[in-house]
Amino acid sequence: MTQGILFVVSGPSGSGKTTLTRRIIEMLDNVRFSVSFTTREPRPGEVDGVDYRFVSREEFEEMIRENMFAEWAVVHGHFYGTPIYEIERARSCGVDLILDIDIQGAKTIKERYGSGVYIFVTPSSFEALRERLLKRKGEGMAEIEKRLENARREMEEICSYDYIIINDRLDEAVENLVSVIRAERCRKERAVNLLKDFKDKLCYD
Ligand code: ADP
Ligand code: 5GP
Repeated sequence: MTQGILFVVSGPSGSGKTTLTRRIIEMLDNVRFSVSFTTREPRPGEVDGVDYRFVSREEFEEMIRENMFAEWAVVHGHFYGTPIYEIERARSCGVDLILDIDIQGAKTIKERYGSGVYIFVTPSSFEALRERLLKRKGEGMAEIEKRLENARREMEEICSYDYIIINDRLDEAVENLVSVIRAERCRKERAVNLLKDFKDKLCYD
């Protein structure tokens, strides 16, 4: 069995990370979504245990003390964290894992786990971000303004990612993300482990 791949997806709020990753999970086999813990309030339609695990600040801080997070960060004024068990469970089952986490979390995962594929999602214009945040229900104007302000800083990190998915036309962005995942699965370092025979003929270290 091969070890699953960590796909780390970041990008400004409203860029379409949730929409894209949900589509990917439906389309591809052998990939799951890492459910983070957060102290922010659920948006309409969000389900505890599916979209996030919604906890109080006290519960989150207790988890930090107990070293339960692979990474955690304060984003737009709320706590968010990836539990270690998501990564360990995916790895032990050989399943690929998609982490929708911010740029601070992505840096921590890179330092801590070394491997991983880093993907940045963004529309091509700032105006599109604003429109999408306004269209999405669940946040007031102050929260939306905070997210737009943070977007400019987040965009400065774009070049530290391996891939950029421009999410203007949703179907095209989904196709591109699927292509990235499929291509990464075919990298020789990984695909070679799937060969049942011929391993003695391998020609690289
Ligand atoms: P994120 O998870 O990055 O914060 P979402 O996936 O919640 O972003 O998307 C924000 C809003 O934009 C949602 O209402 C979603 O339906 C919409 N959206 C996502 N992608 C597109 C797109 N390509 N064109 C138009 N609207 C989009
Ligand atoms: P939202 O509140 O819009 O769902 O997410 C806000 C931001 O938090 C997004 O940038 C999202 O990627 C990030 N985020 C979600 N879960 C985690 C997590 O577990 N860790 C970190 N560092 N960021 C997260």
